[in-house]
Amino acid sequence: MRNLIALSACSLALMGTAGAADAPAPAKPARPSIVPPLPSRPALSQPAPAAAPLSEAAQDAADEQAEAELAAKIAKRLAILRADQDARAAAAARHRKAAPARRAAAPAHAHGTHWSYEGEHGPAHWGKINPAWAKCGIGKRQSPIDIRDGMKVNLEKVAFEYSPSPFTVVDNGHSVQVGVGPGNYLTVQGRRYELLQFHFHRPAEERVNGKGFEMVVHLVHRDVAGKLAVVALLLERGQEQQTIATVWGNLPLEKNITVAPSVVLDAGQMLPPQREYYTYMGSLTTPPCSEDVLWIVMKQPVQASPEQLAVFSRLYPLNARPVQAASGRVIKESN
Ligand SMILES: [Zn+2]
Repeated sequence: MRNLIALSACSLALMGTAGAADAPAPAKPARPSIVPPLPSRPALSQPAPAAAPLSEAAQDAADEQAEAELAAKIAKRLAILRADQDARAAAAARHRKAAPARRAAAPAHAHGTHWSYEGEHGPAHWGKINPAWAKCGIGKRQSPIDIRDGMKVNLEKVAFEYSPSPFTVVDNGHSVQVGVGPGNYLTVQGRRYELLQFHFHRPAEERVNGKGFEMVVHLVHRDVAGKLAVVALLLERGQEQQTIATVWGNLPLEKNITVAPSVVLDAGQMLPPQREYYTYMGSLTTPPCSEDVLWIVMKQPVQASPEQLAVFSRLYPLNARPVQAASGRVIKESN
C-alpha cells in the first residue's frame, strides 16, 4: 500500500513537471523547483486502514524505508525527465531557428478543412482555417442573424412545388443531411430554384426579435445560374412531424455513409400552413460562408415531437453558428 501511494505521488509529481515542460514559456525551468518535496508522513500513511498494527519502532523503520525508496525512485525519474527536457529544449531551439525560413516560404494561411462548433476549430476561427473561408471572418452579409426591425411589406407568396421524391440521408459530421431527388422547386422574385438538400441545426441558428427556437431545418435551393436560396423552418416542441419521422427512421448507423432508402419523402409536408416569411440577403452558415444567399425564414414555426428533438440532440447537442451582425441589411417581412 505504502509503495503504491509513494509511486502514485511520484508519478503525479512527474506529470506536473512534464506538463510544465510542454508549455512554451520558460526555456530554462528552475531545476530546483521541479524536485518535489518529499510527501510528509501523514499524507503517505493516511489510508491503509486494513494494515495490521505495527509497533512504533517497526512503523518508523517501515516509514523510513518507504521514504528512502520514494527518494530513490524520484531521483531516478528526475534524471530521465531532465534528459527528456534537455532533448525538448534542444528541439525547441532548432525549431525556433528554422521557423522564420518556413514562415517566409509558406502562404499566410493554413489550408485546413476541419471545422467544428467549439474550440480552436469553432466559428470564431473559421475564417482563418482556410483562405477560401475568409468570408466567415470578414464577410459583411453573414448568416444567421437576429431578425428584427423588418420592413412590413406586401411580400409575394413563395411558390413551392415539392412532391414525393427519392432521397438520401447522410450524417456528414456537422449535421444530418437529406439529399432530395430532382424536380422540387420554389419560385420567388422571378427566379426558380431547385431543392438540393435539407439539414438540421440545434438550436435554431436564426433568432426572431431575440427569441430562439429548439431547432431549424434549412432547405437549400439553387437556380440555373448557381444562385442559392435557403428556406428556414423554425422547429418548436409539439406534435410529431411526418417528414422528420421518415428521415430519423432512415438515419445511417455511421457517419459519412450515405443511405438511399427505398421509400419516397415529401419535403412539402414540413412546410407550415401559413406562408408568411422574413427575407434578407445573407450567407451559408457553414464554411465557406459564401454570401449572396437569399434567405426565406418562415414566420410560423413547425412542430416536432419531444422525442424527435431528443433524437437529434443525441447526435448534435450543438451545431449552430452564433448570430452575425446584421450591419444595416434590409430585412423584409410579410404583412
Ligand atoms: Zn444550415
